[in-house]
Amino acid sequence: IVFFGPGPSKIPDQVLERVQAELLNYAGTGVSVMEISHRSAEFQQIISGTETRLRRLLHIPDNYRVLFVQGGATGQFAAVPLNLCVNGKADYFITGTWSKKAAAEAARYLDMQPVLPATEKFLGIAGRDQWRLRPDADYVYYCDNETVEGVEFQEVPDTGDVPLVADMSSNILTRPIDVSKFGVIFAGAQKNMGPAGLTIVIVREDLLGRGLPVCPSVLSYSTMAKAGSLYNTPPCFNVYVTGKVLDWVEEQGGVEEMSKRSDTKAKLIYTAADQSDGFYVAPVDGAARSRTTVQLRISAGAELEKKFLKEAEEVGFKSLKGHRSVGGLRVALFNALTVPQIEKLVKFLGQFATQNRG
Ligand code: PLP
Repeated sequence: IVFFGPGPSKIPDQVLERVQAELLNYAGTGVSVMEISHRSAEFQQIISGTETRLRRLLHIPDNYRVLFVQGGATGQFAAVPLNLCVNGKADYFITGTWSKKAAAEAARYLDMQPVLPATEKFLGIAGRDQWRLRPDADYVYYCDNETVEGVEFQEVPDTGDVPLVADMSSNILTRPIDVSKFGVIFAGAQKNMGPAGLTIVIVREDLLGRGLPVCPSVLSYSTMAKAGSLYNTPPCFNVYVTGKVLDWVEEQGGVEEMSKRSDTKAKLIYTAADQSDGFYVAPVDGAARSRTTVQLRISAGAELEKKFLKEAEEVGFKSLKGHRSVGGLRVALFNALTVPQIEKLVKFLGQFATQNRG
C-alpha cells in the first residue's frame, strides 16, 4: 500500500520502527519517552539534539533561534503579526488556501495588503512587475508551497530590507534554503518532519522583543526563546519523533538528497501528465509547479476521476483525492514517499489512461 494522504502526518516506516522499539523503555530509564519529565536531563538531551540536527540540516546561522511550539501552522498565522507588528502594516503574497487564511488572520491585527493582484483560481504566481510591496511594512509574508493548490515558489522572493516570513509547512527539508534571507520561517512538523502537534519556528534574534503587547505568552517568540521552548509543557513525544526523522534525513544524505528525490518524483508525475496526450492535466503554471504536492486533473471530468480513485485504491494507492476545495487528484510527494513508489504510480497512470481514453 502506498499512502498519499497529506496528513495528519507522514513518517518514514524505518523511523516508526525505531520509535516502536524503544517506546516502553526510553534509554534504559524504564519509562516511556512519553512519560519522562520535560524538565529532565533526558528530555533536555532530546530537545537540544533535535535542534542541533535541524540546525545542521538547514545550516541555520547562529543569530537565529529555533522554537518548538504548539498551535499548528495555523497558530503561527496569528503569532506572526502579534510578534512582528511595529508600524501596523504587512504585505502578503496570497497564492492559495493557506496564505489566504494567514492573510485573513493578520488582517485582524494590522493593515494587511496583498502583494499580488486578486485571483479566484490559484494556478501560478504573478510576475514581479505586478507586485505591490511597501518599504515600511513590518514584514512580507508568503507560503513557500501551497499544499492544496500545488503552487510553489521556485525562488525566495526579493523583498529588500523588509523581513521575510515564510510558511514552509509542506516543503521544509525538501530543498536547501538560505535561512539568512528570512526573518521568520515556520512549519507544522507533520508533512516532512514529525507528528502533527509540533510546529517549528526559526526566528532571527533581532526580531525578538517586538510586537503587540496583547500577544499571548504562549505565542510569544521572545517568551518561548527565553524559556528554551519550555515555557509550558512542550509536545515532548513529537519533539522526540521529529529528532528521529531528522536522524533519518541525515542518514539518507540530508536535504540535498531529499531535494534530488523531490525533483525526480515531481518530474516523473509531471512528465506522465504532460505526455498523456491531454488525458491528465497538471493545471498549475510550469514556473510554479510544486515539487511536493502535485495537482492533477483528468480532462474527461469528475466521473472518470472518481473511477480513477476507486481503481487506484483497489491496487493500493490510497488517498489520491484532491482537496475538497479544488477537487481532482493530488499526489503528495513528501520525503517519506520513495521514488520506486512514484514509479509504480506512474505506471498505473499510464495503464488507466490507455484503458479509459475516449
Ligand atoms: N500551512 C500549510 C502550507 C499547510 O499545508 C497547512 C496544513 O496542511 C497549514 C498551514 C495548517 O497547518 P496546521 O493544521 O498545523 O495548523
